[in-house]
Amino acid sequence: MNKLPDKRLVSDFDGTMTKHDFFRLALSYIPPQSAETWTRYESGLTSHFAALQEIFSKLKISDQKLDDLLSDMQIEPDLLNQWERLQTAGWSLVIASAGCSFYIERILHRIGVNPIVHANPGEFVPEIGLFMMRPVQSPFNCAETGIDKSAIVKQLVDSRCQTAFAGDGRPDLAPALLVDPQHRFAKGWLADELERLAVPFIRFERWSEIVDRLCLEVE
Ligand SMILES: [Mg+2]
Repeated sequence: MNKLPDKRLVSDFDGTMTKHDFFRLALSYIPPQSAETWTRYESGLTSHFAALQEIFSKLKISDQKLDDLLSDMQIEPDLLNQWERLQTAGWSLVIASAGCSFYIERILHRIGVNPIVHANPGEFVPEIGLFMMRPVQSPFNCAETGIDKSAIVKQLVDSRCQTAFAGDGRPDLAPALLVDPQHRFAKGWLADELERLAVPFIRFERWSEIVDRLCLEVE
């Protein structure tokens, strides 16, 4: 049996491996008042999971429009090559997302990349909506975000696996704090927050910069 490498890069998906978040692009396809759902989450009045679930459920678009939205997310353009480089350097990729596995796996499948994905399950019905469900089968299920990224990272760190983490948003703060500074990669809100907290990290703009860095460690 092949043993998985004991080096894992746990990465957020939206905004980290892509330029834009799925939910932000989705907001332009749904009634304007739905944007208040996200404001309620940012004010602590609803959970991250409930906010995304509500926004996604209003996404009554065609399959073609959904594909347009997915390409507007702008996934890392060289992802297949970057994924192969990571693997060659002994790192395996684990995607940890508080978003929906439906769109993540659709994007990855088309590129031919097949990492472990922890995300909330869901089903898209054209013109009806995207229905995101709680990951009740996952050992990393939690109320706030559905998938608990901190629990994923903690399990790896506790098992003495060399663990890197990359993210950009609010759900990424707690898991980012669990890894060593040289393996803590951040952009956007997360980078600003880590700076505010005076926590050391490595800032990135493109996901491939993380791969460059991790590959350098073994060269
Ligand atoms: Mg993100």
